[in-house]
Amino acid sequence: MTVQDRPSYQSSASFSAHFASFRNDLAECISRLKENYNLNNMQRLIILIQNIEGVSVAQGYTSLGQSAREIKTLASAFLQPLLPPPPPSPEQISSLMNKLTGLLDLLSNETLAAAPPVAHSLAVSISATNSLQDSRAARRIFLLESDLAECMQLALQIGYFGYSVQSYSNFDDLLGAIQQNPPSALLMDLTFMENSENETDFIQRLRRHLPDETPVISISDHDDISSRLKAARAGSKIYFLKPVNAGSLVDALDRLVAAEDPIPYRILIIDDDNMQASINAINLRKAGMETEVLTEPLKVFQSLQEFNPDLILLDIYMPECTGKDLANIIRQVEAYVSIPIVYLSTETDRDIQLDAVRLGGDDFLTKPIKPSHLISSISARVERYRQLRHLMLRDSLTGLLNHTTLKERFAQEANRAIRQNRSMAYAMIDLDSFKSVNDTYGHATGDRVLKTLAQMLTRRLRSTDIIGRYGGEEFAVVLPNTNGSEAALIIDQLRIGFGRVLHRASDKEFTVTFSAGIASYPECSTPSLLAEAADRALYDAKNQGRNQVVIAPPS
Ligand code: GH3
Ligand code: MG
Ligand code: MG
Repeated sequence: MTVQDRPSYQSSASFSAHFASFRNDLAECISRLKENYNLNNMQRLIILIQNIEGVSVAQGYTSLGQSAREIKTLASAFLQPLLPPPPPSPEQISSLMNKLTGLLDLLSNETLAAAPPVAHSLAVSISATNSLQDSRAARRIFLLESDLAECMQLALQIGYFGYSVQSYSNFDDLLGAIQQNPPSALLMDLTFMENSENETDFIQRLRRHLPDETPVISISDHDDISSRLKAARAGSKIYFLKPVNAGSLVDALDRLVAAEDPIPYRILIIDDDNMQASINAINLRKAGMETEVLTEPLKVFQSLQEFNPDLILLDIYMPECTGKDLANIIRQVEAYVSIPIVYLSTETDRDIQLDAVRLGGDDFLTKPIKPSHLISSISARVERYRQLRHLMLRDSLTGLLNHTTLKERFAQEANRAIRQNRSMAYAMIDLDSFKSVNDTYGHATGDRVLKTLAQMLTRRLRSTDIIGRYGGEEFAVVLPNTNGSEAALIIDQLRIGFGRVLHRASDKEFTVTFSAGIASYPECSTPSLLAEAADRALYDAKNQGRNQVVIAPPS
């Protein structure tokens, strides 16, 4: 958590109210912990301490912030250990308790609560362990919020999914920040607008400053049409009622924000005429597509495997073999039965064209072709192909790879690791006591939890990692170029983050944890040894008390 300089927040009265509520929460946390040193109670404590730290540091309460930070380090140590976590020692517990009592005293200090040393504003920027990500830069979300505690909680929760959140409690500050560098999305607490003196002016200024394409999401206490209307007028696309479920909010953000950078279409151009192929490639690249040119048709399978195209643009007349023959043999390989093949040829004889299409082509375009026609014809086919593949390869609830596809990709990656003598890790993840989540909160809520874990895996792992739903409440991740202990660290960070996500069912809040088993190449030397070892490690993690990550021994 980092705190940035920013001027002007609200009155001191509301701060003393904050500290009073922190004090009560802390007292409650302490008494729960005294009763039971379990993980849930520790997690609650850590979230609270993080909130206290954030507010204190931002407001210039140095000693309070310092004390909170020390406690956080102490407490996190209880949650951090990678492999079977040792139970906290009596010394650890008593030193934590001492510090907690100290913090409680500080919070109870009347002078501190009544008169904040610096009355400046708050902009807290939270991004949880972005170290996990590479190419997916953290998405910046601005949050306009009037309730500090709520804002911290929301920012923390979204942060676990890899979003970085900057919150503003002052409208002018927000507009200033937008002008400097617009966010990926704006989350707006409607109370803020309702409390502003002139709503119409608020709406107009917001619309003027915020780029049209920036999505706005409203969060509100009121479920009435006029509030919804106001939100829509302010440019809001989605309306959430409080309390907001982190999973649903991230879902909405993913949908609205992800649209920014679609994955480019990959087109394999096969043509013996290098010049002709290059011209087409340039035109397609101008339209944002990725291309690979193959002038030797007999190397097609290598290209298909490595480039993994969305469409093949195929010449008909080539010296080594004709386009027709090539399409015919491509179609005989199961993995490529549905990949679009579009012929691009000087051939104008309708019969020959139809014959080529009959043997496995999807369309026939004649050279010369206007670049815009080529692009639109290709785009339409790729779009449909991708939709179809999504249905075929992915699990409908979570959008992750389904069991069959995951196993295929796993085998591919394992064999690649063996061939190239690189490390690779494989993780099996299984939600803990998930049956009781279903039994207590219902199947629909259980589904929501599954989706939430899928979102976190997708958002926080690298784009090169392969993530699948193995079945039921079991997930699998393939981490190329990663050794066992690196993978354990990554999965363990996810475990800690996921365990802190608050799920909601009607008026109840709860947390869910997972266990994971990790196997790696070269310690396990074949795909089947890897799979067995990860399974066994997961079994050990369950047996040793759940909510932990276990690395398989070499086999
Ligand atoms: P453990 O910690 O040992 O893994 O306990 P568990 O309760 O998670 O394991 P168990 O295998 O006994 O139960 C798995 C539960 O997961 C039972 C099943 O109802 C639930 N489940 C499987 N698939 C889905 C799904 O798609 N949606 C929902 N809501 N629940 C599912
Ligand atoms: Mg389970
Ligand atoms: Mg299971």
